[in-house]
Amino acid sequence: MRKKIIAGNWKMNLTFDEGQKLTSEIVNMYKDEKIKDVIAVLNPPFPHLFPVKKLVGDTPGIFVGAQNCSDKESGAFTGEVSAKILASFGVNYVIIGHSERREYFKESNEMLAEKVKAALANGLTPIFCCGESLDIRNAGTHEPNVKFQLTDSLFNLSASDFAKVVIAYEPIWAIGTGKTATSDEAQEMHLALRRHIATKYGKDIANNISILYGGSMNAGNAADLLSKPDVDGGLIGGASLKSRDFLEIIKSY
Ligand code: PEP
Repeated sequence: MRKKIIAGNWKMNLTFDEGQKLTSEIVNMYKDEKIKDVIAVLNPPFPHLFPVKKLVGDTPGIFVGAQNCSDKESGAFTGEVSAKILASFGVNYVIIGHSERREYFKESNEMLAEKVKAALANGLTPIFCCGESLDIRNAGTHEPNVKFQLTDSLFNLSASDFAKVVIAYEPIWAIGTGKTATSDEAQEMHLALRRHIATKYGKDIANNISILYGGSMNAGNAADLLSKPDVDGGLIGGASLKSRDFLEIIKSY
């Protein structure tokens, strides 16, 4: 059974107080409404991780994730945070390969492969992001382009490791733009990726991998996107910063 996951990517937003307020509101709703079948993953900036984790406590269904980790194990890498350090603070997930990291920090497929390995070696669940630019979408080569991102960064994993990864398909042209892929476009790509995974790891693993959609998902369009058979959740940026919006997305699932 695939996990249904709604992950909030706070990016570089929210002060300590704002983060605590948002987390408390999400925790209270999970407790009040006894939500069990949709996993929420809160991915705040690094300094929030420990206090957010403390607030979440053992609330069923809520987990904490980082937005990035180092590809290195430890050592003289000022400003970096390793997967081992994250795991030691009780972090459960880590977003790897977000298009903003690929673009602004020049993270290559090769480096992302190392980050995924580091995350898995430390018991973290990688949320591996992939997605095409607008030029590539317009050229009609989006499917091979995104499949290659998976092949290049993930297909060196053993089957048992690959089975632990969560994929997030995020068309770059839809991130933070208010322009969402249609639910049919999302479904088409998710199915193509699932079939691609099956060619390497077999149908069982492909059918059990959660593939999230990301790109301007909000309370208004979530139900439609999440109704598609191969869409197993969402990676949410802007709409994860307000508890009402984030919780409405979860409820619409
Ligand atoms: C994201 O950053 O992963 C994202 C999907 O952002 P937004 O929802 O704001 O488009």
